[in-house]
Amino acid sequence: MTIQENLSKIRENIPPHVKLIGVSKFHGVKTVMEAYDAGERHFAESRVQEFVEKHPNLPEDIHWHFIGHLQRNKIKFIIEDVDLIHGVDSIRLLKAINQQAEKVNRVVPVLLQVHIADEKTKFGFLEEDLIDFLSGEEFKQIKNVQISGLMGMATYTDDKEQVRTEFRILKQLFDKVKNEFFNDENSFCELSMGMSDDYQIAIEEGSTMVRIGTAIFGEREY
Ligand SMILES: *Cc1c(COP(=O)(O)O)cnc(C)c1O
Repeated sequence: MTIQENLSKIRENIPPHVKLIGVSKFHGVKTVMEAYDAGERHFAESRVQEFVEKHPNLPEDIHWHFIGHLQRNKIKFIIEDVDLIHGVDSIRLLKAINQQAEKVNRVVPVLLQVHIADEKTKFGFLEEDLIDFLSGEEFKQIKNVQISGLMGMATYTDDKEQVRTEFRILKQLFDKVKNEFFNDENSFCELSMGMSDDYQIAIEEGSTMVRIGTAIFGEREY
């Protein structure tokens, strides 16, 4: 199957309100261009170095997403060019993004990553820490970051019911956070969940953004 065929097959499974983010990490410019030529305009990278090397060599109308674990000292390399940072998993990181965004006079959209998986390796806020933070004074000082929603990764498992339960918990938290803290803000609207193996479940559970790599581009060579 070609990239174009993969994309059309995936698009058939995605309702119009769900955004398809092509995860282009570990794939070269030529490969990304195949997806671009097939109409894809949202791409995601997970490493700063790779993002910095790749994006100047690709068309300017691409919307770039950063989905990896972002180190604070590397924010400055992506801050001007990124459209959405998905993996904001701590208050320290959020404040550091705010600081860098202020320097370049931007308000940068981000998603707060929530820990939903049954694995210690995955990053993210715990629910109570997230609620505490959003209720507090510190949050009100943050002016150069726009919190556009939540992101999460399910456990890597064949147990589809477990994956579904984790996504459901994240959607419930999304609704709660929306109601309590962002009720009048239309910009809080994105729930980024679902990858190649679980995006259909994620959409059934309320995802608005799916991050898909392998099902578009094939296996990555690390
Ligand atoms: C790599 C990655 C993806 C894409 O994974 P696939 O299984 O290849 O679709 C999605 N989200 C994050 C955070 C990733 O790091």
